[in-house]
Amino acid sequence: MGIVVQKYGGSSVADATGIKRVAQRIVNTKKAGHDVVVVVSAMGDTTDELRDLAEQVTPLPPPRELDMLLTAGERISMALLAMAIAQLGHKARSFTGSQAGVITDAAHGNAKIIDITPGRIVNALKEDAIAIVAGFQGVSQTTKDITTLGRGASDTTAVALAAAMGAECCEIYSDVDGVFTADPRIVPSARKLDRISTEEMLEMAACGAKILHLRCVEYARRYEMPVHVRSSFSHKEGTWIVPTSTEEDEMEQAIIVGVAHDRSEAKITVVGVPDKVGEAARIFEALAAVEINIDMVVQNVSAAATGLTDISFTLPRADGQRAMSALARIQDEVGYDKLLYDDQIGKVSLIGAGMRSHPGITARFFSALASAGVNIEMISTSEIRISVIVDESEVDTAVQVTHTAFDLDSEAGEAVVYGGTGR
Ligand code: ASP
Ligand code: MG
Repeated sequence: MGIVVQKYGGSSVADATGIKRVAQRIVNTKKAGHDVVVVVSAMGDTTDELRDLAEQVTPLPPPRELDMLLTAGERISMALLAMAIAQLGHKARSFTGSQAGVITDAAHGNAKIIDITPGRIVNALKEDAIAIVAGFQGVSQTTKDITTLGRGASDTTAVALAAAMGAECCEIYSDVDGVFTADPRIVPSARKLDRISTEEMLEMAACGAKILHLRCVEYARRYEMPVHVRSSFSHKEGTWIVPTSTEEDEMEQAIIVGVAHDRSEAKITVVGVPDKVGEAARIFEALAAVEINIDMVVQNVSAAATGLTDISFTLPRADGQRAMSALARIQDEVGYDKLLYDDQIGKVSLIGAGMRSHPGITARFFSALASAGVNIEMISTSEIRISVIVDESEVDTAVQVTHTAFDLDSEAGEAVVYGGTGR
């Protein structure tokens, strides 16, 4: 039997009892004959608590030191897990990201993996030990400083490591039974999917579904690594992330796989932009120069009388202030009238590869929102996704009515959320 990589999220190892329970599961996998590599997140809400602590010391923690601090969370859980496994009579050895050979670029807080050189993990397995690796961290190739890969990125550590080790599959253990048609915390009648294509999962993750980190799905697709998302609190079969389906499979599949939502974005409107060639370019160049990622963009038809137009776009809330300052600096150059900032928005997205070949999906989505009295502020689409921006207070309603309108509600009863504080 081959190597299995298992990743356990923070709510699965929230306390000593959780750590012992997970240790038993890992030992069972080992006893079944697999070589086991475990990637672990920080216990419970530790990462958030460490962040809060840093903010009490300074509003702007130096990124290098913040990474040093946050990576401590995973050090705690990996060491405790290794101890719990030893207590069960099995060999286990914990490794920081750096020790596990996770080499990254130098972008603190959002570093990208450049290479994985898992020599020490390979040796641990050779010596019949279970290897425990701290998730979400690595070491910069150039500065040799410790880096983090972005919030929720232990998933990415796991899939990247699985690919580098040539593992059979990567299991992602969470506090719900798999990938659901909507967040079970908002839609209790959400249905667990048995399988979902990487293509659809990429859209779900990009649209705010927190069950998997976006970059981990990209890895799974690139290296064709089978990923099984399941609960560490039950023994139920979870959701398999499978290669993008062929046209024939698609005929048999549901048209819509799910509804995702995202409350992390803000909207900026540049009011009164002269409707001339090059103005939009100037605006977005200013944002690109300060490395801000833009999501949706809408430009209104200009009013004939004035020759002025409004341009609205969405971006991560965390970048809101930086974007406003960057735009303020080019006000005279562009000659726009004023800037509006709104962070009371949410994005609701309908996703499914089947919409490529089925007309009427947009109409059904928008009428569901209309009958619930939800106003649409912006719209964007891809081949397999329709997203709308709505008022933040209406996100839950929008998700619920859309879920029902596409017959996604399950009769089987409530989806179980086993743990976590939802933070
Ligand atoms: N502990 C990190 C976080 O909370 C990484 C993870 O959980 O995947 O973001
Ligand atoms: Mg996580």
